[in-house]
Amino acid sequence: MPTSTEREAACLQSCVTSHAAAPSPSSAPPLLPLNADLHCHSVVSDGTLTPEVLAARAKANGVELWALTDHDEISGQARARQAALALGLDYLTGVEISVTFAGVTVHIVGLGFDVDDTALKQGLDFTRGGREARAREMAAGLAAAGIPGSYEGALRYVGNPDLISRTHFARHLVDTGVCGDTSEVFRKYLVEGRPGFVPHRWAGLGDAVRWITGAGGVAVIAHPGRYKFTANEEYALFTEFIAHGGRGVEVVTGSHTAADFVKYADMAREFDLLASRGSDFHCPEESHVDLGRLPPLARGLTPVWDVLAHRVHRH
Ligand code: AMP
Ligand code: MN
Ligand code: MN
Ligand code: MN
Repeated sequence: MPTSTEREAACLQSCVTSHAAAPSPSSAPPLLPLNADLHCHSVVSDGTLTPEVLAARAKANGVELWALTDHDEISGQARARQAALALGLDYLTGVEISVTFAGVTVHIVGLGFDVDDTALKQGLDFTRGGREARAREMAAGLAAAGIPGSYEGALRYVGNPDLISRTHFARHLVDTGVCGDTSEVFRKYLVEGRPGFVPHRWAGLGDAVRWITGAGGVAVIAHPGRYKFTANEEYALFTEFIAHGGRGVEVVTGSHTAADFVKYADMAREFDLLASRGSDFHCPEESHVDLGRLPPLARGLTPVWDVLAHRVHRH
């Protein structure tokens, strides 16, 4: 991958950019930001497309550096990498690990790790381990609320039997007419205080960060704008994450508002964290943001891919 200086030089030669500033003969053209999309899901977790179809969609949407980040699972990595490289798309290995922090589920994205690392693989096996029992408990809660058969129903949507998730229940409840869309299912049935919600203890924050960094990757706090933390809890998350060796935060991601882009850009600067960008694309019908269709990172941030050049699989 070119360095930012090389990109700048390349831009000076040939870039046409969409930046608003009108070119003037004396001013240098603005930088063309790299279209990196480092967060999305395939059928290996709770997405609906295969790694190969996602790679083609990323390429068609102009993505230049891509990572597939399935929940708690890296068995799609070889397929994603091969498909990307065959299409001329640079690839970083990826995963999104579920952790419990301050009683809340937090997601940590890992990028650029070695997929053969034993401790990482064992950690992910362990993290996936509780999902089936959790799903059966969720189904029991839903049955008690008058919705029978949801475990078997959700299983029909599962691409990887090790990775049954709330999303699969949500798709089943939409397709059987219980709710109009998946957000309604979550709101009514699958979040804390609702009949299909089961409190679950995932990995520890430090464990997930160590699995990623121990495998040569960089750990990134996923979509911080989605957690319902107080300012103090959020400060504790960032501080502890860094103390464990975490280095990045998603600033631009599908669920963030424009205000979140500004807030987490500021936090990235305050905590000296690398900034990441990823759509969190799951499904054409459900996801609001498609692969690669995100605003660029604000100037002045250090993109996480700047420190991962040596981990990029190049086409
Ligand atoms: P799980 O890992 O089984 O707890 O499922 C978490 C997944 O559910 C997330 O990765 C999202 O894909 C999805 N999800 C969580 N909250 C919502 C929501 N409010 N609406 C739609 N999907 C959601
Ligand atoms: Mn998901
Ligand atoms: Mn997530
Ligand atoms: Mn995700």
